[in-house]
Amino acid sequence: MAGLLQELIRIDTTNPPGNETAAAELLRDYLEAAGVECALYGRVPERANLVARIRGSGGGPSLALLSHTDVVLADAAEWLRDPFGGELVAGEVWGRGALDMKGEVAASAVAMATLAREGWRGSGDLIFVAAADEEVGAGYGLQWLVLEHPDAVRADFSVNEGGGERFEFGGRPVYLCAAAEKMTSPFVLRVHGRSGHASMPAIGDNALVKAAPLVARLGEFRVEPRLIPEVEGFFMAVDGGVPSAAEALERARAISPLAAEVVEPLLGMTVAPTKARASEKRNVIPALCEITVDVRLLPEQTPAEAEAELRSWLGPGDYELVGSEAHGGTRSPFAGPLRAAVESFVAQEEPGAVVAPACVAGFTDSHWLREAFGTVAYGFFPARKLDAEQAARLIHSADERVPVADLELGLRFLLHAARAVCG
Ligand SMILES: [Zn+2]
Repeated sequence: MAGLLQELIRIDTTNPPGNETAAAELLRDYLEAAGVECALYGRVPERANLVARIRGSGGGPSLALLSHTDVVLADAAEWLRDPFGGELVAGEVWGRGALDMKGEVAASAVAMATLAREGWRGSGDLIFVAAADEEVGAGYGLQWLVLEHPDAVRADFSVNEGGGERFEFGGRPVYLCAAAEKMTSPFVLRVHGRSGHASMPAIGDNALVKAAPLVARLGEFRVEPRLIPEVEGFFMAVDGGVPSAAEALERARAISPLAAEVVEPLLGMTVAPTKARASEKRNVIPALCEITVDVRLLPEQTPAEAEAELRSWLGPGDYELVGSEAHGGTRSPFAGPLRAAVESFVAQEEPGAVVAPACVAGFTDSHWLREAFGTVAYGFFPARKLDAEQAARLIHSADERVPVADLELGLRFLLHAARAVCG
């Protein structure tokens, strides 16, 4: 499995432009050698998605092992090793995508090949999707597959990235299983003024200066906390009871600072001004200042609610608030056979450890399956050797690497889930 991951890392699938076809072909060749049925689907030839399938005998639920083959940019100057070298050093595979998420791609492919070689067959289909274009989402990956090839990717259950981190809270091991995702709902704050020559500031009405107090106010944004089901489930699993929404953050801090980091972004919508644009010329007073605001909503919230919250937070004033396309914000019930498979796996691997539901603060491809087919989709690829805090610092960053022991743990989980869910 380490060898397959090393080969995948050596194929540069930095998105943009992606060029995921070479990775899809490598996986197809590997899987076909084990007798697994494969198909490539691409909106354009150089950006293929791979879908592989072990057909069930009929009647049982289907499970999709979902992953993506593209990666984000790596600046070799920041790295200790070649980000596309795929080196195996002291039990760790180094390279861009080792954690996000060519490691899980490799483990999923090995799980498919292992089951096929054993002659295993479930009652439902086991599907492996190695999608293109997750990191940018320009319409070449799963979003396109669910529209153009729904029969290839439809599944009752799915396992993807986004969870499986292991924490110790009060000495008790806890694995997070992501059952939901926040919605990304960006806004642009536009502040108008009047231009003029910068040598005579009084002549104009400086939009940048007018925007400054609004930006500062956005930086202090707070909402009344509320408890979503995943946070209630988290407290039940970790603490044996559910605090009130008002006490939740304090309770999480008492459990551990890390528990507070997990819980805090899930207590409400979050707001972060991230981009600013005003005059293009040093000597011209800007007539317009545009502030891009990254806004993340709880799964049940709508962009209209977010806009109302923002307006009431900023108060009346000389500004416009323009929402752009929102996406994500779906959830699956944390119940049923896939949850049972996650829990039985953790009980078997690490007796005494518990599984707690989580909500991803970002976005994953699980959203497209939930939205299109009502798939029960979880983010769960367990990691035990690599500390969750360290993993968070390596993803999309320099020196990304994964311990082979964690790939093996993940492979054992995928095999367990396939047997448990597809029956
Ligand atoms: Zn990813």
